[in-house]
Amino acid sequence: MLEDLNYLIQLQEIDLRIKEQELAQEQYPAAVEKLTKQIAHTAAALDEIKGKLLEAENDKKNWEDQVVKAHLGLEKSQERLNSIRTNREYDAVHAEIEAQKSIINSAEQRRNNLVNEIEALQKSVAEHQAELDRIKAENEPQINGLQQKIGAIDSTIVAINKEREAVIPKIGRHIFRQYELIRSRRKSGRVISTVTNNRTCTICYKVLEPQFYNEIRKGSKVILCQSCGSIMIWNPGESNGA
Ligand SMILES: [Zn+2]
Repeated sequence: MLEDLNYLIQLQEIDLRIKEQELAQEQYPAAVEKLTKQIAHTAAALDEIKGKLLEAENDKKNWEDQVVKAHLGLEKSQERLNSIRTNREYDAVHAEIEAQKSIINSAEQRRNNLVNEIEALQKSVAEHQAELDRIKAENEPQINGLQQKIGAIDSTIVAINKEREAVIPKIGRHIFRQYELIRSRRKSGRVISTVTNNRTCTICYKVLEPQFYNEIRKGSKVILCQSCGSIMIWNPGESNGA
């Protein structure tokens, strides 16, 4: 029985190592996701500004086309002035000329405003691009590092599981089942309470009664903590000479 208990302590140590790897396996992908989202968020902001810039450039082109068109109309109207015969005709052509001049004025005004807007947007694109480059340079190596760790966790767990499989046959079936049952109910994965000279359960810290404590020291049978139900084992590291 004593031998069983020693292997049970080994099993607990192995299981806690697996637990630690599994915890990392849970946490690393979330960290990768956070870093990836940060890049995507910055890239989306850059795309939005680029979209606005493209729109402003198209608008500017439209107003420039309108200016050209109005200039052509203006030239035609001015040519017509030469062949005018009546005052009524003269007034009509003059009205046309005024209208075209007004179109040219407002279109040029809109176009000039857009030139300023485009300049500001180009500056903003450059700033967002620099921010994206900076975040990529910062996050991408971290993402790669985490992904390598995630990849290594699987093989680490496989290796620890081999240790586990080697220890299990050395433990009695009954006591192993008891261990597994308690372990399945515990989030911490801690099943074994190693008792030392301070006479307390190392899991729930209950102080042990002398008779109970003496039985644990003997290690002749499986004893569960009366308070938390952990398997109590005299700590072999402390047992020599104690
Ligand atoms: Zn306890």
